[in-house]
Amino acid sequence: MNQSQHTELLGLSFQQLREIVESCGQARYRARQLLDGLYRQRWSALEQFTVLPMALRQQLIQSGCSVGSPRIEKKFVSTDGTIRYLLAFSDGQSIETVWMPEGDGGEAGDGSEMGDTELQELNTTLCHPERSESAVADERSRRTPILEGSPDAGAGAPSFRPQLAKGWDRNAGDTKGRFQRATICVSSQVGCAVDCAFCMTALLGLKRNLSAGEIVGQILAVLNDQQVEMERDRVNLVFMGQGEPFLNYDNFMQAVRLLVEAVGIPESRMTVSTSGLVPRIADFGAEPVRPKLAVSLNAPNEILRTQVMPINAKWTIAKLMAALREFPLRNRERLTFEYVLLGGLNDDVQHAREVAELIRGLRAKVNLIALNPGPEIPFSMPSPERVLAFQDVLTRAGIPAFIRRPRGRDIYAACGQLKHTTDLVQLGE
Ligand code: SAH
Ligand code: SF4
Repeated sequence: MNQSQHTELLGLSFQQLREIVESCGQARYRARQLLDGLYRQRWSALEQFTVLPMALRQQLIQSGCSVGSPRIEKKFVSTDGTIRYLLAFSDGQSIETVWMPEGDGGEAGDGSEMGDTELQELNTTLCHPERSESAVADERSRRTPILEGSPDAGAGAPSFRPQLAKGWDRNAGDTKGRFQRATICVSSQVGCAVDCAFCMTALLGLKRNLSAGEIVGQILAVLNDQQVEMERDRVNLVFMGQGEPFLNYDNFMQAVRLLVEAVGIPESRMTVSTSGLVPRIADFGAEPVRPKLAVSLNAPNEILRTQVMPINAKWTIAKLMAALREFPLRNRERLTFEYVLLGGLNDDVQHAREVAELIRGLRAKVNLIALNPGPEIPFSMPSPERVLAFQDVLTRAGIPAFIRRPRGRDIYAACGQLKHTTDLVQLGE
């Protein structure tokens, strides 16, 4: 191997590892061991690869190879169990990755779309802390929500019953207190160039793309920190952290292939969200291995969408919907539309009717996200009544619509809040 080159092994495929091993004069099965150590054992230093001969390890180290794991700089723990990790790379850049032990609100198909507990929570705790439970119950009894994954789905007025937080198993025995279906929210870039008006990541601008190794490395760092065992624990991934994955398409896809083939996370447990890069949607549809697709719609018409998502000037709703109508969905797969509700701007029932019109005929669901507020974000949260009314219109139009429960708002870990908030707000640690 070239003596002076610095090579980070995380992110390399079997083929690439084989070339390195062979250039060291070693048999190719050593590449398989290297692959296993990197992605299955999740070792973060070459010294841990004791399955390899000492001579090979030393040769790799001397020729400038390292694993390339990110360093956990800080952890912020939310009252709801969500953990926001600040992870640093070797060049000093850092990103944020979020661990949600109770699932993800449904993006990765973990069945945790907002149900009874969450609706109640949204109404009482977050938006109108003064509202009583009975007022919420009254309101709910007038509605017929579609609650996917809930035994009450379509049953009219489901009863309130004590529930454990989703994802935690009351009878877990030895694993008591462990998660049952955690979700990791993954970043694809440092910052983002897309500049959506409601998003805190946009305030960073784009610093740089993450390499495939950095995308995978952040996930492995969190899996290690949470002592996840792939055979035992169910983990979903949502590529909804910092950045626009489709503006870092090749690295993102290389990371996906490694996660599926080497780490062992099925593609069916992954969802990627895009702000709507139309040409990449077509490329993505043609991938043999790919996560599910979510699209950030966020507005019901061209004028409003361009106002809050400048990307709409180029990739208009018309072009976006045309691409989505061509998108090859797999068996039982649905598209997800994300819609951030901005109080008084895009949260009217008339807007919901426009959204229903846009989506009509597509196999899709809508995730409604009440704005997660933050410093320098010039929008307000929608009222719970408007959120519910918006959902009702979609539901009545036959479009499954779910209200996303915000995760980790208190630590700025919720959607659109990923930024280096350490320098924005004082957080209790
Ligand atoms: N860049 C990609 C993925 C990361 S953003 C995308 O835009 O799709 C993930 C989701 O967070 C998007 O659906 C986005 O619309 C939403 N989001 C951004 N800022 C938000 C905020 N302040 N409150 C709630 N959701 C927000
Ligand atoms: Fe970028 Fe997504 Fe934030 Fe828009 S919402 S600025 S695309 S991270």
